[in-house]
Amino acid sequence: MSESSQGPIICVDNIHKSYIMGREAVEALRGVSLCVERGEIVCLMGPSGSGKTTLLNILGGLDSPSRGHVIVDGENVVALNEEALARMRLHKMGFVFQAYNLLGNFTAEENVEAPMVLAGMKNGVRRKRAKELMSLVGLADRAHHYPSELSGGQQQRVAIARAMANDPAILVGDEMTGDLDSTTGFEIMALVSKLNQEHGTTVVYVTHDPRMSKYAHRVIQLRDGRIVTENGNGHDSAAVVKPGELIIDDDGKQIVDRGKQ
Ligand code: ADP
Ligand code: MG
Repeated sequence: MSESSQGPIICVDNIHKSYIMGREAVEALRGVSLCVERGEIVCLMGPSGSGKTTLLNILGGLDSPSRGHVIVDGENVVALNEEALARMRLHKMGFVFQAYNLLGNFTAEENVEAPMVLAGMKNGVRRKRAKELMSLVGLADRAHHYPSELSGGQQQRVAIARAMANDPAILVGDEMTGDLDSTTGFEIMALVSKLNQEHGTTVVYVTHDPRMSKYAHRVIQLRDGRIVTENGNGHDSAAVVKPGELIIDDDGKQIVDRGKQ
């Protein structure tokens, strides 16, 4: 691993994102700086329209900022071409959305296999891993069911198994529990916590539900495209970047200089 594996896994520095709507520019993000440590669970909260999804999509390499730096696992994401970005998402990121987004014509297990097919994994290895992942999310006995034969909570478990397919370093979740009743929502968040604890997966998730934020080590509040507060949720939180702390060399290797190293 590169030396960057010591530092935060994600850093964004003073990112801005504007959308042009006709003749108006909508400023979805107005200067957000943030680092996420390896193994951390970070929750993004804030009112509707505050920029949560925009920030999450930029952290996950699904969208790019209008300006500012984004470093993921030592890579300068803004400099990657579309192909390199797709590879980064496939191998380093697992995505879970509110709407599950499973492929309806495929069984649960085949859905879990899909990212492994894209990654070129051999048949036998892939099948075995898909079965293990179905067990990991507590659905070994539903492997051959189609999404329409599963409850919302079960579909979201399959989506989580699929997100974990290529053993991503980072799990990114946007309103993962948004369509679920609270009991099922808690079960989904408990599963995410388990993956964090047992696999060391870093998790960044968005929720508008304060009850779902308690699973995070750190809660970050957004308002009008800016970070307004951070709460450590009782855990150590050294990952806040202050202006001038973020230093990126040409390879995107050195991420944060807190004057300690
Ligand atoms: P949240 O997830 O917190 O509800 P979003 O990140 O989705 O907020 O949106 C932040 C702001 O950016 C909102 O004002 C929204 O209308 C605007 N926005 C988001 N995506 C687009 C887009 N594709 N085109 C234009 N405006 C957008
Ligand atoms: Mg959103």
